[in-house]
Amino acid sequence: MKIFKISLVVLGMMICSSGTNIYAQKQIKDNAASITSSPLGTSPKLVVGIVVDQMRYDYLTRFWNHYGEGGFKRLVKGGFTCKNNHFNYTPTATGPGHTSIYTGTTPSVHGIIGNSWYDKVEGKIVTCVADDSYNTVGVLDDTGKASPHRMMVSTITDELRLHTQMKGKVISVAIKDRGSVLPGGHMANGAYWFHGGLEGNWITSTYYRSELPKWVVNFNESNKVEKYKKPWNTLKDIKTYVESGSDDNTYEVLFSGETAPVFPHDLPAIWESNSQFNILKGTPYGNSITADFALAALDGEDLGEDNITDFLAISFSSTDYVGHQFGVNSKEIQDTYIRLDGDLDRLLKALDKKVGEGEYTVFLTADHGALDVPGYLRDQKLPAGYMDSKTMTTKFREFLNYTYGKVNPMKNYSNAQIFLDHDVIRNLDLKVKDVQEAIAAEFLTYDGINRVYTGYQMVQNQYTEGIPYIIQKGYSQKRSGDVLLVLDPGVVYNPSEKGSSHGSPFIYDTHVPLIFYGKGIQKGSTVARTEIPDIAPTLASLLGIAFPNGTSGSPIVQVLE
Ligand SMILES: [Zn+2]
Repeated sequence: MKIFKISLVVLGMMICSSGTNIYAQKQIKDNAASITSSPLGTSPKLVVGIVVDQMRYDYLTRFWNHYGEGGFKRLVKGGFTCKNNHFNYTPTATGPGHTSIYTGTTPSVHGIIGNSWYDKVEGKIVTCVADDSYNTVGVLDDTGKASPHRMMVSTITDELRLHTQMKGKVISVAIKDRGSVLPGGHMANGAYWFHGGLEGNWITSTYYRSELPKWVVNFNESNKVEKYKKPWNTLKDIKTYVESGSDDNTYEVLFSGETAPVFPHDLPAIWESNSQFNILKGTPYGNSITADFALAALDGEDLGEDNITDFLAISFSSTDYVGHQFGVNSKEIQDTYIRLDGDLDRLLKALDKKVGEGEYTVFLTADHGALDVPGYLRDQKLPAGYMDSKTMTTKFREFLNYTYGKVNPMKNYSNAQIFLDHDVIRNLDLKVKDVQEAIAAEFLTYDGINRVYTGYQMVQNQYTEGIPYIIQKGYSQKRSGDVLLVLDPGVVYNPSEKGSSHGSPFIYDTHVPLIFYGKGIQKGSTVARTEIPDIAPTLASLLGIAFPNGTSGSPIVQVLE
C-alpha cells in the first residue's frame, strides 16, 4: 500500500504548515483502520487467490506422497479443504472459470460464456478479454489490448476496492491474459500477463496504466526469465513417479522438433521451432516464472504492508498447457505438480516473511478440471473417444440444405452451439422455436452427441438438478446460441486423437480442489458439496465486505471461524 503511505506523508506535510499535523495524521490512520476492522469481519493484511489452471481434485491425492511439507500439504493440514467442490455450469473453460471464482456466480449472470464466442450483435467471434479500445504496454504487438469489459458484474476484488475507498490494492498476475484480467476485476491497480516470443516479458494494457511500473521494468530487464531456458528433466528420479503412466506412449502431443514425448525435454535445442519464450508456458517453468513475478509484485507494490486488506490474484497457467499436451496420466503432469508444490512452498515462505504468518489468507482452486486422454481410456475399455467436428458440420450442412433449401438459417457454429439467423427464419415464415427443435432432433441422431437443448427450453424452464441445470447455469439469454450440444461422457472435440481437453458438464471437468488457509480460516475439511460460486461470498463474509453484485453462491459456513 505504497500509494496510501505517500498520500499520508503528503497530507501530513500539507497539514504541517498549519501546525496540526500530529493530530491530523492520527485521525487519518484511525479512519483508515476503521475501513476494514469491525467485529463482523476479519481483516487479513493480504488475501492471496491462487487458481491452478486445469487442476483436477485428484492431483492433490494422487501425488500427495511426493509433495513437501511447505506447499499443498501445508495448505491442507493448516487450512480447510472442500473435497467435493464443483463447477455448476458448462462450459468448464478458463475464462468462465476465473470469472465465476471471482464473481461468485455463473456465465448465465456474469456473461463470460467461453474463452471466445460468436457475438450475436457484432456478428463475429470475440475473445473474452480482447478490447481494441486499449493498447499493449510492454511489447510492440496487440497481445496487451485487453480489458474486463465483457464481464457484466463486479468481482470480490472490485468490492474490496469499493469498500476500502480504493485504498486496498488489487494486483493480478498470470501467464494467460484472461487468467490475470478477469480475477483483477474492473478496478485492479495492475494486471500483468506473460508475453513469450522473442521478448519473454511481462506486459499489461493501457486499460490499467500507460507505462509499466519500475518493478515490472526491472523484472523484465533482469535474467529471471532467461535462466529457465534450460532442459526440462524430472525434479526427482523418474523411477519414483509410479503414480503416472509410461513416459513414452502414443497419447501425447510432441513439442515441435522432438521425436518422442519423453524426458529430458531439451528446451534450448527446440527453442526456435517452438516460438522461443512461448515454450516455457508449456512447461513447469512457466509456473516458476509466475511465482517469481508474484513475489516481485509483493515487494514492488508493498502488498500486505498496512492494515487495509490488499489482494494478490495469481493464476498458474502452465498446468493447463502441460495437461492439454501430455494428458492427465503423464509423467509430465506429475512432474509439473511436484514442481508447482515447490513454487507454492516458496510463495508461502515469502508471505510469512513479508506479511507475517497468520496475517494473510489464501485460497487455492482451479478454473476447470480435465478428461484423461480419451485414447488411453478407450484402450482401457472405458467409453471414450473423439468427435470430428468437421465431419459433423458437413453432415449438418447437408441437413440444412435439404430442409431449408438455399436460404441458410445458420449464422454460426462454435463452442458446441448453433447460432441461428432469426431474420431469415421469420422471412421463411417459420418459428425460431420450431427450427431449434428440428435442429436438436437432427443432432440427436449423430454418434457422440449425448443430448441437445434449445434456447427456448433454457428460457422457458427452470432446471434444478443434473446436466440440464449445469447447461442452464452456463446459458446467457443475451449471448448464448439457439441450440446447445452435449457430447457423450469421455468424448472431446479433437480430430488429432492426442492430448486431452475439458469444457463438458461431466465430473472430470467440474471436480476441482478448494482450500482456504490462514487468517480467519478454520482447520478441517468437508465432503459436503460446495460450488465455485461459493468462493467469493465466503471471502466477502470473511472480510465483512459487500458480496459481488451478481453473486448466486452462498458462503461456506464451516470454513469461517
Ligand atoms: Zn483453464
